Amino acid sequence: MEHYIYFNDYYPTGDIMVIAICVIIFILIGFSYVRKSKSFLYFLFINVTVLLAAFVNIIYHVKYITNITGDYTTVYILRILYHALLFSTLLLYVVYITEVLRLEISKKYPVVTMSIIVFIIAVVSDIVKTMSGKGYVITSQGLMTSGRDIFLYGYLGFVVIILFLMIVYRKRLYKRVMSGFYGTMIVSFVMLAIQNHYNQTSYTVGTFLFPAIAMLYIIHSNPYDISMGAIDVRAMEDMIRFNYERKRELIIMSLLLEEFNGEGKTFPTEIQGIIRKFSGDYFKGAVLFQINNGNMMLLAKKKSNPDYENKINKLLNAFMVEYEKYRFDYKIIFGESVDEVSRRNEYVNFLDSIYRNMQINSVHMIDYDDVVSFNKYEEILEELEDIYRAKNLRDPRVLVYCQPVFNIKTGKYDTAEALMRLKLSNIGMVFPDQFIPLAEEKGYIHVLTEIILQKTCDEIKYLIQENYDVRRISVNVSVMELKDDHFCDDISGIIRNSGIPDEKIAIEITETQTESDFLVIKSRINELKDHGIKFYLDDFGTGYSNMERIMELPFDIIKFDRSLVLASGSDNRSEKMVGSLANMFKDLDYSVLYEGVENENDEEMCINMAASYLQGYKYSKPIPIIDLKNFFSKLDEKIQN
Ligand code: C2E
Ligand code: CA
Ligand code: CA
Repeated sequence: MEHYIYFNDYYPTGDIMVIAICVIIFILIGFSYVRKSKSFLYFLFINVTVLLAAFVNIIYHVKYITNITGDYTTVYILRILYHALLFSTLLLYVVYITEVLRLEISKKYPVVTMSIIVFIIAVVSDIVKTMSGKGYVITSQGLMTSGRDIFLYGYLGFVVIILFLMIVYRKRLYKRVMSGFYGTMIVSFVMLAIQNHYNQTSYTVGTFLFPAIAMLYIIHSNPYDISMGAIDVRAMEDMIRFNYERKRELIIMSLLLEEFNGEGKTFPTEIQGIIRKFSGDYFKGAVLFQINNGNMMLLAKKKSNPDYENKINKLLNAFMVEYEKYRFDYKIIFGESVDEVSRRNEYVNFLDSIYRNMQINSVHMIDYDDVVSFNKYEEILEELEDIYRAKNLRDPRVLVYCQPVFNIKTGKYDTAEALMRLKLSNIGMVFPDQFIPLAEEKGYIHVLTEIILQKTCDEIKYLIQENYDVRRISVNVSVMELKDDHFCDDISGIIRNSGIPDEKIAIEITETQTESDFLVIKSRINELKDHGIKFYLDDFGTGYSNMERIMELPFDIIKFDRSLVLASGSDNRSEKMVGSLANMFKDLDYSVLYEGVENENDEEMCINMAASYLQGYKYSKPIPIIDLKNFFSKLDEKIQN
């Protein structure tokens, strides 16, 4: 037997340091936010086994040194336990890595089984070798001697498995994350080598801790925004899930300051301070999340805040005081967590759907109706996505309704406006206010326009074949669509393919605010006008009009918004003003169309205010496009007359 003297060059400093670092890690976890995923659990176990190993190692050496009886049984057992704890740490690292790499069961299973086998072999051989006196032995003089060290082989076995995982599945992790792990592993090996060189054993456990520190930093940390104390959406979803699984109800407060809701924007420092203060002062154990640049969310446990309604009131009062100073437009939502939304972990979308329907500068309390509308909103969104993806220009879910327009000069209905509706199997008819802004935001609007245009062309073709006197039908187009390079080709392509003359189609657009938009739109309009397509300026009178720009665009018809009709009906000065505007347009060869003409009063007034066209409920509500023929007259009737 080749026994050699085992240098007992051990000082507890290394292990005491390990214990201190483990305690620090636990403190950090306790006071900061950490994603509580499944891998986090393994991370905790790793810290515990390392901590125990350090403890046991100290005790083992103390027992050895203080032994006076010559019976070293406890020392042997402690040493085996110490090794077993280090092997457990390695085993946990393997499990942890398979978790982080999101290995499928079939790939995870052999690796974990293999590691368990290595673990068992290592621990059992350690026991057997020690018991048979062939391994680690304490001689009668009290000297430690060792045969070939089982520990080394076990350690290498695990290192091989871990390296295997990290090399084979390296593509599954972000390269920099991988490099971080490699880096700490290399430091661990170097540390072991140096320790070995100096016949030291004090720092072994420490090297087992390095990768865990890397994990805490790279994977589990979720840094606070120091200025506000907020953490991000992922963290919020994590907290929702964690509490939902434990059936704990939460209190939710959400603040939206829309003007900061854009890329690169942040709250001014003063506002940050106020929000930080708000989040700490009112609720016990509240956590603040930054959902978007202009959107904060506060979550607190209902159980820790039984009088939360009171607290919310106080907070809102304090908020109003601050609002008076800064006057940023706000929206606030508050209430209790809703199981259905928590289960799906969809608060961001849920709150978003509520915000959409809220007035500016208002406060809303979450109730069950919100969930109902949210479900509807999600349904609409899904269908819109599907319509967009299918890109079927005759999609049966997109309906064209039409409002006939009365032509004063001809005394007939010969034009109309196409208005979109959705007919969805689960919720029925959906009106534009519920899906147009959404479709615009998600980039689906252009496909919808193409569908409306296709179906309108189809109907015009039919009306022409049947000899109806149809001058044109106007289609609404969103400003953002016009900016697309393909816009003109898409529009003229659909019209050309359906074989109707270009002048049978008109496009309604609203005014734009920015100079760059204006220039693009101008070029698009000019291009399509060359084909013969007419252009209407929609909703004139609803915004701040820039007359100079309007004049620069070759519109055919100016559509006066219903608000101008209403204003004219209510006082004389307005009527004069609207009337002179209309006359000015008329003098400049534009036609004026009044929208929202509801009764004879409106009609008479509009005719007196230079109207060429009238549109509104007085003539017809929007009707399915196939019913439009009931308003139009036949061309041959005219000839017969
Ligand atoms: P808009 O272009 O100003 O359309 C006129 C709206 O006023 C229509 O509402 C119409 O039903 C309504 N209206 C018509 N006559 C009267 C009336 O006498 N009194 C009152 N109070 N209202 C009247 P609708 O169909 O709900 O459409 C709302 C808005 O949705 C439209 O306003 C338009 O901006 C948008 N929209 C509708 N269809 C489309 C489309 O195909 N594409 C795009 N981009 N937007 C569309
Ligand atoms: Ca319109
Ligand atoms: Ca309009």
